[in-house]
Amino acid sequence: MQGRVESRENASPVAEYCGRIAPTPSGYLHLGHARTFWVAQHRAQRKSGRMILRIEDLDPNRSQSKFIQAAEEDLAWFGIHWDEGPVYQQDRTKRYREALDRLIESEQVYRCYCSRKDIRDAVQAPHAGDEGPIYPGTCRGNVGEEREPMGTRRPCWRFCVPNDQRVGFSDGCCGYREFQCGSSFGDFVVWRQDDVPAYQLAVVVDDHEMGVTEVVRGQDLLLSTARQILLYRSLGWQVPQFFHCPLLTDESGLRLSKRSESLSLRDYRAKGCSPEAIRADLDWSGMLDD
Ligand code: GLU
Repeated sequence: MQGRVESRENASPVAEYCGRIAPTPSGYLHLGHARTFWVAQHRAQRKSGRMILRIEDLDPNRSQSKFIQAAEEDLAWFGIHWDEGPVYQQDRTKRYREALDRLIESEQVYRCYCSRKDIRDAVQAPHAGDEGPIYPGTCRGNVGEEREPMGTRRPCWRFCVPNDQRVGFSDGCCGYREFQCGSSFGDFVVWRQDDVPAYQLAVVVDDHEMGVTEVVRGQDLLLSTARQILLYRSLGWQVPQFFHCPLLTDESGLRLSKRSESLSLRDYRAKGCSPEAIRADLDWSGMLDD
């Protein structure tokens, strides 16, 4: 087993601040993205840090080049600038595979033959409300050598979650958060059945290798943060700081979603709204305070 490096878990206060914005090009960016990315930029600027743009285009079925181009244009229009990138996850599969190999070698992941649902779910970040049932651990014994293939179905790789542990972290926006492994979430997919790296692994490899010191993103990813902390520990990597922004909801209280294309930046721009007017209209409570 890979040893845990607990003492490296707090980011060094002397490390240069490095933030990132990481849109998934499966739709147009909406006001919620704009607000979160603006907060990310604010936090980097106040520490004279750098900012990376990373395009999370791992899912070949959902990523579209028109959305990549639109995201880059819309961000620039809204006043968000980056020092490095865009970095495309599709170009980095080899790095994700190396991390998977380390997890395989230390027997912290196992082959799972259970369901095709993995293919649908694993590559996208699981936003609040997207979480499926907790995987019951049926395939946990499948570490090491591959057993007889079951028909033509390929396995996915799941991370074996330590069921008796709680994972806690201090969030810059939400305060201390703690989740119970095994009941808040179960063994999660790190590599899909169709040979595509899953979101949870890719994001950890990227944030680590890119030297990200603070991850700013939406509160719908709090649970994913707990999963990712387990991966950082398993890989012996320093855990970054986290700042999870509140979610923006529409008039009926529903979370904005690219799927519904609600309130896209494009639409506001087409209607003649200025970025300044949009920013003045947004609620920034608790996000730009320090
Ligand atoms: N690409 C993810 C999304 O658009 C964000 C992931 C992250 O910030 O870690 O939902």
